[in-house]
This record gives sequence, C-alpha cells and structure tokens, in this order.
Amino acid sequence: MNVNLAKLSGGTTVIPGEMLDGLKSRIRGTILTERDDGYTAARSVWNAMIDRRPAIIVRCAGAADVKEAVRFARDTGGVLSVRGGGHNIAGSAVCDSGVLIDLSLMKSVHIDPFARTARVEPGVTLGEFDREAQSFGLVTPTGINSTTGIAGLTLGGGFGWISRKFGLTADNLLGADIVTADGQLVRASDVENPDLFWAIRGGGGNFGVVTSFEFRLHPLGPEVMSGLIVYPLRQAIEMLKRYREIVAAAPDELTCWSVMRTAPPLPFLPAEAHGTGIIVFAACYAGATNAAETAMKPLREMGRPIADVIGPHSFAGWQSALDPLLTPGARNYWKSHSFTTLSDGAIATLVDYAAKVPSPECELVCAQLGGAINRVPAAATAYPHRDIGFVLNIHTRWREPSDDGACIAWARSAFTACKPFATGGVYVNFMPEEEKDRVASAYLGNAERLAAIKAKYDPCNLFRMNQNIRPTP
Ligand SMILES: Cc1cc2nc3c(=O)[nH]c(=O)nc-3n(C[C@H](O)[C@H](O)[C@H](O)COP(=O)(O)OP(=O)(O)OC[C@H]3O[C@@H](n4cnc5c(N)ncnc54)[C@H](O)[C@@H]3O)c2cc1C
Repeated sequence: MNVNLAKLSGGTTVIPGEMLDGLKSRIRGTILTERDDGYTAARSVWNAMIDRRPAIIVRCAGAADVKEAVRFARDTGGVLSVRGGGHNIAGSAVCDSGVLIDLSLMKSVHIDPFARTARVEPGVTLGEFDREAQSFGLVTPTGINSTTGIAGLTLGGGFGWISRKFGLTADNLLGADIVTADGQLVRASDVENPDLFWAIRGGGGNFGVVTSFEFRLHPLGPEVMSGLIVYPLRQAIEMLKRYREIVAAAPDELTCWSVMRTAPPLPFLPAEAHGTGIIVFAACYAGATNAAETAMKPLREMGRPIADVIGPHSFAGWQSALDPLLTPGARNYWKSHSFTTLSDGAIATLVDYAAKVPSPECELVCAQLGGAINRVPAAATAYPHRDIGFVLNIHTRWREPSDDGACIAWARSAFTACKPFATGGVYVNFMPEEEKDRVASAYLGNAERLAAIKAKYDPCNLFRMNQNIRPTP
C-alpha cells in the first residue's frame, strides 16, 4: 500500500508499498501506518491537545533500527519526529504526515553497581529507571513525574527533587550513543566527539537520535525524608515570603517547590479543604534522615498548616507521588519563566493568578533550583541557566475543548504579568509549541556554538521537530 509522506521541503511524496516493505524487512521492530492496530496508541502523547497523524511510525527495537529509520527519512526527504517518553508539552514527538521514530520499546536499563554507572535506552521512563537504580541503592537526579521519558528530559537538562545536591540529569551524563543525520552511530563523551557531547546536554533533540545514555549514579535511599506541607491560599503571600528566606539558607540536600492550586480530594487533606485554594510546599532531603529533620524544621514551623505529611518515604515512591495529578489524557498548556529570586512583585502576581485559576487542575509551580546546578559554568554544557533560583511553570490543565480559550488566556495573562520579575530565559523542556520566537531565550549565550555544532552534525536540519536550532549557514 502506498503512503503519502510530507516532505521537509514542503509538499508530499508517494512512498510505494514495496519501499515500505523494504524498510520493514530491514528492521527488528515494527512499522505502523494508519491502517494498523496500535497506530492510535503509538501516535498519542501525554498532552491531549496534540492530535497529529504521522504517515509512518517506526517502532524501533534497537540502534540498528534507528539507523535504518533515520536513513529512510533522510533519503525520502520526509518530515521526521523522534519520540522518547512522549511527555513534551509541545508534542514535538509526533509529526503530521511524516516519519515518527518511536523509541518507547527500547527499555533496557543496565546498572553497574560497582562502577556506579547506568546504561539506559531512550524508551525508559523515570520510574522504570528509578526502580532499577534503587534496587542497588543508587540514583541519578531526574524529574518529578515517573512517567516522563528519560530521553527528552536529559537532552533538555532535567531537574527534580535531588538536582540541587547532584546537578541536572544532563550533568550526570557520562556519554551517549547517537545516530546522526547521516545515519551513522557515533559516541559522544568528554573524549569522543566532545562538541556533540556538549551540545546534547541542554540542546534537546537537535543533533541526532540518542540510542543509549550512560549516567553517573550516587548512593541514596531506599528512604528519603520527603512530603507536602499545605496551607490555605489566603496565607500564600506570607508563606512564600518565609519560604523565600528559608530556601535561601537551605543546604544543597534540601529542595522545596511551591505549588498553588485547588485542593484535590486527597485523603490526607480535611474534607472542608477540598476544592479550596491551597499553597503546597513539596520538599525532599537528599541525605540522612536525622540531618533532614534539622534542615526541614524551619519549613515545618512556618505556621499552622492544613496538613503536614513530611516523613520518610521510599525514594522511588516519592518520585512518583505526584503522578495521580499528572496523568496523560488531559488538555495541557504551559508557559514558563525563570526567576533569580522570588521578588515581592512575583509573589503578589502569582498569588493573584492562583486565586483565579480557570480549572481545578491548573497549578502555578515554582521549582527550586540552584545548589550543584549553579556551580557548573554556563558555557560548560549547552544548558545555560546556571544563575537562576526558580523555574515557574504555569501548568494549565483542563478536560473540555470548550475551555481551551479561557484556560490558555489565563496562562498567557499570568505569563505576561510575571514577565517584569523574570530573567528572560526559559527552560527548553517547558516550552509550548507556539513559542518559536522564544527559542533564543532557551539557549542564551550558548546559541551560537549550538548552531555551529548543528551545522556539523545536521546541516540540512533533518531533526527540526524540537525547539529548533538552525544550522549556521
Ligand atoms: C507531567 C510532566 C512533568 C514533568 N516534570 C519535569 C521535571 O520535574 N523536570 C524536568 O526537567 N522536566 C519535566 N518535564 C518536562 C520534560 O523534561 C519534557 O517534557 C521532556 O521533553 C520529556 O521527555 P520525553 O522523552 O518524555 O518526551 P518526548 O515528547 O518523547 O520527546 C521530546 C523531544 O525530545 C527529543 N527526543 C526524545 N527522545 C530522544 C532521543 N532518544 N534522541 C534524540 N531526541 C530525543 C525529541 O526532539 C522530542 O521531540 C515534565 C513533563 C511532564 C509532562
């Protein structure tokens, strides 16, 4: 059966059935077109706002399949997208009418407990990785939702509960195997293709398809002191000001994010709080429990909370504790800023917008960064935001398409109102699809070097379904 394939140069080309059969015969994985079972699931991603229909989905079983798929896309001139865990808010994993390289079947995690390293394939989720690493009492810092893909997260930077102690996920990358635009597999590390290694630590999927990541691991767990402290939203200004002082003096081991939202009907919240505005401080201590108690004391004594469920939790459990609020299938739209500090103006603005959320699932999240992340020079890896204290995610989430307008308008308005207090930079992994004019703000002072490396490894910009770096002409 022939397939119409969208071309990078515009228009479409017809791929004869025999050509597709040829590709099928050369790969170990499977190929799906819209007539095949599994096509709909394979094109669905976390954000239900994304509804794209690739012409060909290549479900790769290994690096050899990835090489074939990249060569196929390059030789046909087809539009190409690459899927790891499918979590990117912009939906860049899925293209319309092009070739989707689906890595989600590539799930191997190999832990070397003696060398404290991990070899991880690109279809692995954070939860799958944690399960393997924790079985040896080891971790590498990742993100706060266990169903996120390790691939896209790492390539954009990656931060979560223990990054202030151990750095970004990308800072813990020791090397990677990458299929570049010429269809060859190369190694990127400090000693092999160091320019490429520099670029993939923050430059996203611009440089090729990573078929294997190698991470450094650290001992932590099985339990970490972690949990939530919840106050009514009416106390948010006062609490955020105290929080700002406490986290400014916090050791690297302690990370605390603030979240303003509507209280979900969770069992540890009193029934009368359900559906009301709350501010949540979500904290984790990457170290010994007794030291955690001392470090967390000021946070736990800020006032009289509605709930305080800080305690020893399994690390892997805490890493997935927020999953029920972040399930796939909802409509989502994000806007993000970086803050050096939480100024009085930023606090007042955020609390104002928190009081008028357009849906009960919307959140204003301030992720606390700093610590080890900021001790890496801004030019040492492609991720440039080494001087910020917080990343704001205006996480807008709702169910009905009829609410799209009101929800997106709220997010954009909150974003504009917070702009005077922000650095101007943006975390590449939190950018929605329409922010093409903001791409330079993601790469900042590293943009020029990234464009030169792009020209070397992907001169025709085959990998462009991302926050795209144009190759230097
Ligand atoms: C609920 C939720 C929570 C999140 N929490 C955090 C967090 O705590 N910390 C944080 O840092 N980020 C967080 N993120 C953002 C996350 O880092 C990005 O969404 C990231 O892109 C997800 O990676 P993925 O593999 O799942 O995405 P995908 O959508 O599969 O891929 C995103 C892009 O990455 C590139 N890519 C993916 N795999 C490869 C590969 N193997 N080789 C080359 N390029 C590839 C492609 O360009 C692709 O378009 C969160 C996202 C969600 C939805």
